[in-house]
Amino acid sequence: MTDETEHKAQAGGTIIPVTLFQQNCMLLWDEATRQAVVIDPGGDVPLILDAIAKANVKVEQIWLTHGHIDHVGGADELRETLKVEIIGPHVADTFLLEHVEDSGAKYGMTGTRNFMPDRWLNEGDTVSVGGLTFDVLHCPGHSPGSVVYYSKAMKFAHVGDVLFAGSIGRTDFPGGSHETLINSITTKLLPLGDDVGFICGHGPGSSIGQERMTNPFLTGEA
Ligand SMILES: [Zn+2]
Ligand SMILES: [Zn+2]
Repeated sequence: MTDETEHKAQAGGTIIPVTLFQQNCMLLWDEATRQAVVIDPGGDVPLILDAIAKANVKVEQIWLTHGHIDHVGGADELRETLKVEIIGPHVADTFLLEHVEDSGAKYGMTGTRNFMPDRWLNEGDTVSVGGLTFDVLHCPGHSPGSVVYYSKAMKFAHVGDVLFAGSIGRTDFPGGSHETLINSITTKLLPLGDDVGFICGHGPGSSIGQERMTNPFLTGEA
């Protein structure tokens, strides 16, 4: 016996390292419906399009964790190519999205464009693709408008550059604040629970529990 309400969506996903910063662009989809989202298309749009074709999914949205060039450099081009909407980050990163072109030029990236998303996100919003639903957590500190996407059902989060395996996001960029970042992590991420796994913007993923116990920035050793 099956019932609509008992349906638990299964997710599929792949990581596409993009730009010279090896940013973890993520293609995430609902296995049942093949509806997909691209999170943080920082650049190398042809690589992202290849991954979409290989996964045989239909991308319906672009979600952004924050406005840094390595996360958004390919967003406007991908929006135009796929004819989808850009969702996020929080409006506090407007000043970054107004200078995507300059930032890209500084790092020798071509094709980067200034843009605005179709929808800004706030704490408490939800976003979904197919049967996958994510809560939005506003986690400033690395950038003022950083957001984290959290799926309670999957015990999974995409934390952007807020938290890394063994480290935390840099806070020496404009609008960054170490104190604010630590506060975001301790009040928004740690309470999600030790068994929540996460993908981050650079390097390998981890779990909240692993970081709570061993991350030097959270244990007070850093
Ligand atoms: Zn960043
Ligand atoms: Zn980054």
